[in-house]
Amino acid sequence: MDKRDYYEVLGVSKGASQDEIKKAYRKLSKQYHPDINKAADADAKFKEITEAYEVLSDDQKRAQYDQFGHAGPNQGFGGFGGGDGFGFEDIFSSFFGGGGSSRRRDPNAPRKGSDLQYTMTIEFEEAVFGKETEIDVAKEETCDTCSGTGAKPGTHPEKCSHCNGQGQVNVTQDTPFGRIQTKRACHYCEGTGKIIKEKCSTCHGKGTVNKRKKIKVTIPAGVDDGQQLRVSGQGEPGVNGGPAGDLYIVFRVKADPRFERDGDDIYYELPLTFAQAALGDEIEVPTVQGKVKLKIPAGTQSQTTFRLKGKGVKNVHGYGTGDQHVVVKVITPKKLTEKQKQLLREFAEISGDIPEEQGSSLFDKIKRTIKGE
Ligand SMILES: [Zn+2]
Ligand SMILES: [Zn+2]
Repeated sequence: MDKRDYYEVLGVSKGASQDEIKKAYRKLSKQYHPDINKAADADAKFKEITEAYEVLSDDQKRAQYDQFGHAGPNQGFGGFGGGDGFGFEDIFSSFFGGGGSSRRRDPNAPRKGSDLQYTMTIEFEEAVFGKETEIDVAKEETCDTCSGTGAKPGTHPEKCSHCNGQGQVNVTQDTPFGRIQTKRACHYCEGTGKIIKEKCSTCHGKGTVNKRKKIKVTIPAGVDDGQQLRVSGQGEPGVNGGPAGDLYIVFRVKADPRFERDGDDIYYELPLTFAQAALGDEIEVPTVQGKVKLKIPAGTQSQTTFRLKGKGVKNVHGYGTGDQHVVVKVITPKKLTEKQKQLLREFAEISGDIPEEQGSSLFDKIKRTIKGE
């Protein structure tokens, strides 16, 4: 799939406000609307623009796009714009329809189902490596008995005769400004345009039933706390044959006792004895990718950081792998045997009272900061 970047399609910056996005869309959609523009590629262009707008105008979808791009982090869940009925109607009613509320949409038109959100708490390692799993979601599903029509099997919903299937009726009102004709929802069919004479006994005419459904989810490797994944078509069912909504899975990643994560990088605190820090050592350090040997040079100070390149988290978009930063913490012993004390006293005697200058001290740093260097 070779898709253009949505921001590029609309010619706006990544940080564009909703207002800028709307303006850009309005301008381009007028320019390329197939009714106006007869160029051969106008139709495709118009679709591309609309698709970009559909995503960028929706904060949730935009965040998802910013995180995962077009296809999402894994192929199983087709990304955005699989040609599923975008809200053309919604967009046009707000731009060109004029008056908003006075223009109700056709109750018989197919409508996309609502989106659902599901929060999934996962282990630290599951976020790092990804995992195939299954979730149990309670949601409305199309009723099997009536295939979603709401009518008893063998019967069909009939067109409402009061509103002629429009779902709304004209109302004439006398006002101080003259006679005004407005529309209101039809009471007989509750705005649906249809009358169900014999209701389906399973769903009682609703066309949907609440079910618990198991949904397979591929946790993408490298996903981070707060990121979300769109599972296409697993939201509420559509209306009048419209496509189902989407399911958004928001990940909550549990903390790990050893590692701290910052984006794709991992921080690990390595405790060292004074002797190890002073004399140097070779130590096995845990990383998310297994143990790694790390050479500690003689004279290592507390807070020194060693970088283990590529030993962090694989980027969720596939942009390389982060690093692990090993932060040294020199531990001062709290309990000493008599022999240890004796040796340390001897050590102190040889060393003298004044610590050896270790490059720039913390005190120097503070002085420099104050002087604004
Ligand atoms: Zn039913
Ligand atoms: Zn009606």
